[in-house]
Amino acid sequence: MIDLRSDTVSQPSEAMREAIAHAAVGDDVFGDDPTVNELESFTAKLLDKEAAMFVPSGTQSNLCALLAHCQRGDEYIVGDHAHTYMYEGGGAAVLGSIQPQPIPMLESGMLDLNRVREAVKPNDIHFPRSRLLCIENTTNGKAISLEELAAGAETASDNSLFYHLDGARLWNAAISLEVEVNQITAFFDSISVCLSKGLGAPIGSVLVGKSPFIDEARKWRKMLGGGMRQTGLIAAAGLFAIQNNVNRLAQDHKNAALLATGLEQNNGITVEANETNMVFIQLREENKFIQADLHDLGICTIWNKSRCRLVTHIDVTENDIDKVTEAFAKLV
Ligand SMILES: *Cc1c(COP(=O)(O)O)cnc(C)c1O
Repeated sequence: MIDLRSDTVSQPSEAMREAIAHAAVGDDVFGDDPTVNELESFTAKLLDKEAAMFVPSGTQSNLCALLAHCQRGDEYIVGDHAHTYMYEGGGAAVLGSIQPQPIPMLESGMLDLNRVREAVKPNDIHFPRSRLLCIENTTNGKAISLEELAAGAETASDNSLFYHLDGARLWNAAISLEVEVNQITAFFDSISVCLSKGLGAPIGSVLVGKSPFIDEARKWRKMLGGGMRQTGLIAAAGLFAIQNNVNRLAQDHKNAALLATGLEQNNGITVEANETNMVFIQLREENKFIQADLHDLGICTIWNKSRCRLVTHIDVTENDIDKVTEAFAKLV
């Protein structure tokens, strides 16, 4: 199957499986798993922060960050369709008693900073305490520029807010902006990155920030059940991913662009957006039931009515893109 549902579907390569098989391990709850420790220090250094913590998922990583930055009754300011707000089960509110203050997101994926400033609550017993500003980059595949991120940092600092980045696809953003990742991370107090998306690892995310913040986050990770033991087995895959699979993300972006160009030739398909490794298409009403037919042709997709998001990743080749374009041409 050519699976375009998400960049989370990739399979570990033979080389990655070798790295897993030969990983040195210890008990990470005691802090003595050498492979986890190596992954954490490698990632902290790469993102230019003091410390890092390996976590099973991006959801847990963001949640640990929110719990470490905020107290019960505090508020975090977040995009109204950000992953943290929309797709993480409301964890901050449910488990942290942290109130989300959603703000409309601009076309760029950035929050409207005027609205952010208006949303910050005065220091008054009536109000929750505004504590944190949370940004996502990329968002819907779109990279937010350094200028916009800098403006967000200024707004955060003017209002004494911590500044957190949900960087599930941080490297896609950096490649798209043609900058180093640490130019993006420099603006933020904390950053969560996923190893299990475009980088092709089977499991895992990393949270980075200052040492006292990571110490606090570690306590929350334990409480959430994310304290794992011989975790080097999966950290080895993450380390392999971060050391070998970053530069090749450019190929995913190229493949997405090829796919967008191919699909655009088709009168029945509107390409609504093509950003980094994602293509968003809209079909005419009468063509919206092609998911099963695509599946029969060996192509796995996910639909919302007549809309579809197609995601390229490490297991999708240029040749696959031709096959996908041909399949759409046949069916639409
Ligand atoms: C995937 C993703 C996450 C974390 O997802 P997990 O599936 O929990 O690892 C967080 N934010 C964004 C923007 C994502 O795309």
